[in-house]
Amino acid sequence: MILTVTLNPAIDVSYHVQHFQIGHGHRVENGNKTAGGKGLNVSRVLQQLNSEVLCTGLLGGSTGTWIKNQLDSVNLMHDFLEITGETRTCLAMLDPIAGTQTELMERGPTISKEEVERFRDHFKHLCQKANIVIASGSMPKGMPSPFYQEMGEITRELHIPFLLDTSGNALTEGIEGRPFLIKPNEMELRAYVGRELSNEEEMLEAAKIICNKGVQYVLLSLGSKGAILVGQENILKAEIPEMEVKNPVGSGDSMLAGMAYALQQGFSISKSLAFACACGMANAVEEQTGYVEKVVVEKLVPQVKVTPLNEGR
Ligand code: ATP
Repeated sequence: MILTVTLNPAIDVSYHVQHFQIGHGHRVENGNKTAGGKGLNVSRVLQQLNSEVLCTGLLGGSTGTWIKNQLDSVNLMHDFLEITGETRTCLAMLDPIAGTQTELMERGPTISKEEVERFRDHFKHLCQKANIVIASGSMPKGMPSPFYQEMGEITRELHIPFLLDTSGNALTEGIEGRPFLIKPNEMELRAYVGRELSNEEEMLEAAKIICNKGVQYVLLSLGSKGAILVGQENILKAEIPEMEVKNPVGSGDSMLAGMAYALQQGFSISKSLAFACACGMANAVEEQTGYVEKVVVEKLVPQVKVTPLNEGR
């Protein structure tokens, strides 16, 4: 099965507020409440693709219990470590008139040293059941910043591909653990190398730096412009058609789920890239975040044009 790791999950609550104004009170309909965190988006999409998935990470307090109940209600298997801190809540105010989204994101609980130790053991134990491990998102306070690096080392010893989607320091340190694949977007890649990437050539150079550190694949997602997959041996570019988009939030998570699914199915690397892009696209045409229809994904796969970029380089 595919094991997904969400170290800092959240209850995401969104409100529709017409003419949202800072400094004013607004009467609103009940908020839309979902179990959030990038890893949980990935898990939902894997389930929609009919993959067997187990979600883990850290959950605590009544918000943690709410998330567990929500996962139970949609039959998503989970085995989180219970922590003493309260899992965070994130708020989004969507103004359909102005087309704006205002967000308040709690940082989340502080994890104790003892909880870190317990989670390390818990993770090692769950890895015994996994054939792919995916870790997504930020790390809560108290979690040692090289934790993703450690996860890379643990999974490599067990010969399990480790897919990592994070940013900032967690990504920089995570790369040192030589994950099988990372999925930065352009902004995350730019932040990693610490300079502007003004053209495709510069993006490829940056991705190559990461491959040279022992990462097998860098899946660089480029939103409506598709994606580039830079591997130790080959570079593939995926171009996608223009489409009417409803909500592209979570497309990166859907793409990562698609890539894990493709790997598990043993697709060729070129078909895996097309399938991953199709999952991102299938999410973008839906209103819901982290939601794809498998039939839509299958219809979109042939519309993704994958070409090798490194011929003659
Ligand atoms: P998020 O953090 O919201 O999950 P991301 O920045 O990690 O997103 P993107 O690069 O925006 O990821 O999107 C991932 C993939 O989803 C793209 O490579 C593409 O295949 C698809 N996608 C995203 N946005 C669009 C769009 N506007 N039109 C068509 N496809 C899209």
